[in-house]
Amino acid sequence: MDNRYEADTRSHLNLVCSACGKIEDFALNLPVPVEIVHQETGFRAVESRVEYYGLCRECNIKG
Ligand SMILES: [Zn+2]
Repeated sequence: MDNRYEADTRSHLNLVCSACGKIEDFALNLPVPVEIVHQETGFRAVESRVEYYGLCRECNIKG
């Protein structure tokens, strides 16, 4: 069983720290599932990504 490649169509939010460059993942469900996008537009999305930029916990404490 080879599970190294995950066709992960689930969404996640990237929390990007603009101070130290750390990127944290935050799993979430987007309002529009890729299945709906495909049904409506024919576009077959394989990945979705949302990025929030700001300061991580550590940088917040320092800053
Ligand atoms: Zn940081």
